[in-house]
Amino acid sequence: MRKIASAAGRKYHAQIPKGKRIVKGFINITKDLCKECHLCIHFCPKGHIMPSKEYNVQGYHPVCVNEENECNGCGICATMCPDVAIEVYRE
Ligand code: SF4
Ligand code: SF4
Repeated sequence: MRKIASAAGRKYHAQIPKGKRIVKGFINITKDLCKECHLCIHFCPKGHIMPSKEYNVQGYHPVCVNEENECNGCGICATMCPDVAIEVYRE
């Protein structure tokens, strides 16, 4: 598994090769950094991120993973997150 995107770098560390199907991706959400803007939810093409009802240390409801929909490792969520709360990994 390799890290392919994080908001810190504001760019992809690897591009999706043309004609190659991405099997699976994973994301890591640092919930205490999340400010509940929901940009990641809006832009995720797979519906892999959803709101949660828990609170983080800042008093926001951080997003969480929706296990019903698989991540494709595209990295869009990490690129969009203004608070550097998401890291993306791809198998
Ligand atoms: S990497 Fe892509 S598919 Fe996976 S959660 Fe982020 S936006 Fe959704
Ligand atoms: S884009 Fe970042 S700050 Fe906004 S809801 Fe998603 S994880 Fe939280």
